Amino acid sequence: MTTLNGKTALVTGSTSGIGLGIALSLAKAGANLILNGFGDASAVVAQVQAFDGKVGHHPADVSDPAQIADMLAYAEREFGGVDILVNNAGIQHVAAVEDFPVERWDSIIAINLSSVFHSTRLSLPGMKAKGWGRIVNIASVHGQVGSVGKAAYVAAKHGVIGLTKVVGLETATSNVTCNAICPGWVLTPLVQKQIDDRVANGVDPQQAQHDLLAEKQPSLEFVTPSQLGELVLFLCSEAGAQVRGAAWNIDGGWLAQ
Ligand code: NAD
Repeated sequence: MTTLNGKTALVTGSTSGIGLGIALSLAKAGANLILNGFGDASAVVAQVQAFDGKVGHHPADVSDPAQIADMLAYAEREFGGVDILVNNAGIQHVAAVEDFPVERWDSIIAINLSSVFHSTRLSLPGMKAKGWGRIVNIASVHGQVGSVGKAAYVAAKHGVIGLTKVVGLETATSNVTCNAICPGWVLTPLVQKQIDDRVANGVDPQQAQHDLLAEKQPSLEFVTPSQLGELVLFLCSEAGAQVRGAAWNIDGGWLAQ
């Protein structure tokens, strides 16, 4: 089992869904955790505090580079820096390109793509100085293929995979690695909203869930946040040290089609 005792992990968007699942896996493996995300964080902080490491929460809105800088300064001050950076915060909006609200485009690019650039550029010097680091970007199968109605999300996630490759190359001779994980459907609030939209159009809830999976995900089962957490642990382990600049899909067969 991977031991991350003494390492500090920052997981953006970890008050919910996938980010929370990854934070719990990292905490279970012994890491200190800096949580981030909206909403009342006290319950998730308590959940992560059940393990031995130190836990903090920083409320940065990652669409704002200045707030990301403030979060990294907090990490340096309170935890001695970030060893594992998981860029996970993300939002979705579904509309055809010609109807896509411009402000939604801008916020999806800022939150899902530009935040990854900012937190990476601010974390790398500390990781290089310590001689070890792991950057894991939660992209999506939508970083590798498109779907109708998801122009901003698909563009941002393709961008995340491109950025991951460049950072993977720029760190290739160091003990810092940078990789992307590309999940298929995971049943979180982000996806529940898409199921709810189908229900609002008169589809039975069970049927709506089945239809969503059947359109894209051959296993007909959701990927779970804890499965994603285990993959992050592998990338943090010695066995994962030569995985560099990869886009690793975990998608119930979505991309095999
Ligand atoms: P979620 O809605 O459950 O959680 C999103 C998290 O991001 C929350 O903690 C929220 O507070 C935080 N967040 C949103 N905007 C923020 C901002 N501006 N600043 C800081 N935090 C912010 O979503 P999820 O499904 O867990 O998605 C997490 C990541 O996984 C996203 O990047 C998403 O694109 C990706 N993903 C999800 C799926 C899926 O099926 N759920 C599939 C592939 C990829």
